[in-house]
Amino acid sequence: MVRVRIAPSPTGIPHIGNTRTAFFNYLFAKHTEGKFIVRIEDTDQGRIVPGAKKAIFEILNWLGISWDEEYVQSERKNIYKEHAEDLIRKKMAYKDEGAVRFKVSTNREVSWVDAIGNKKVSFKADVIEDFVILKSDGFPTYHLASVVDDHLMNISHVIRGDEWISSTPKHILLYDAFGWDKPIFAHLSVILGTDKTKLSKRHGAKSVLDLKNDGYLKEALLNFMGLLGWNPGGDKEIMNIKEMIKLFDLKDVNAASPIFDIKKLDWMNGEYLRIMNNENLKTLLSKFYDQDKNILSYLKSDPKTLDFILDLAKTRMKTLKEFKDLILPKVPKLSGEEKNIAETLFEKFSTIKIWNKMTILSAMKGVLNTQKTKGSILYKITTGFEKGLPLPESLEILGKEKTLERIKKVL
Ligand code: GLU
Repeated sequence: MVRVRIAPSPTGIPHIGNTRTAFFNYLFAKHTEGKFIVRIEDTDQGRIVPGAKKAIFEILNWLGISWDEEYVQSERKNIYKEHAEDLIRKKMAYKDEGAVRFKVSTNREVSWVDAIGNKKVSFKADVIEDFVILKSDGFPTYHLASVVDDHLMNISHVIRGDEWISSTPKHILLYDAFGWDKPIFAHLSVILGTDKTKLSKRHGAKSVLDLKNDGYLKEALLNFMGLLGWNPGGDKEIMNIKEMIKLFDLKDVNAASPIFDIKKLDWMNGEYLRIMNNENLKTLLSKFYDQDKNILSYLKSDPKTLDFILDLAKTRMKTLKEFKDLILPKVPKLSGEEKNIAETLFEKFSTIKIWNKMTILSAMKGVLNTQKTKGSILYKITTGFEKGLPLPESLEILGKEKTLERIKKVL
């Protein structure tokens, strides 16, 4: 049975790289009807960042990457200690000033066939120094803890980022020392930015919680992450989680580094917004803007008019965050002539008794006729933008009072 795990260290908020690793593990487990395990690697106590563990689970929960078993390494200290002592007894490890070091036998080659690219990776043991497995504070190092746990937890495939590839020979030496079978190793190539350099904030790569707060949808993010290095064949780009689970296979994961292109994520997010029905969109927006009274009341406007606005907004926004810009405009700077027009508009709007798109439109037309000006000026006066969502509908939702307030502000 396939059993895979992620072993996040609570040393920071997960970014797109380690979240993709989690997702690939999850996809593989689901595809093979295996188990997916989360093991918190908190053995390096000095590097623990408050809130990081909570963020790890928040992200998994948000994305719906559910796990079957959960472990915390700091609760398993004794297990690692016993295993270190076992190696000391076998003379395969020795004490070194309070720490325990593994004795590396030279003259051998350490190799494995990596499931990514199906290629043999080998290291000469000579280049590996005797390494610490138990620190003087009684905590195990990553190497010991991860090997012991992967064995005891019956992990069949270790799928992790390729920044760990240089640790794998040490792990293999430990498996051999204990006399244990080794799992299959699959090292995922590191994600790069569009300029092929190490991914960073410059490329728009933020923590996954930041992406959530920027208004990306989980469906879009999963789809986007899935295609970061995995190519199921064909050029289908929009795939839901079920399709991805059905198709996922380690042999289709590229050995070459995938490129993180935020523009592609934006595009994909826009696609998911466009196909979303308005009810779901309203629910998402209410959640996203749950602290924003203006938007919440906006979302409670006359459903028909709101539907009209949402249908259009969906074609123009790439993230939930952009919704606000679409409907809550900026205060524009007006020229003298534009101010005159704004005054006329204010007067016409003031006299409207039944505030709806028809009456708003006819008031606007009246202004355009008397002032001989372009519609874009009215747009600018009321929204601060040159163009955007249809004005009469937008202003109907905004309400008479707020519209007048807005024009007054501009004046
Ligand atoms: N703690 C490591 C990480 O944060 C785990 C590496 C592994 O999966 O073995 O990625």
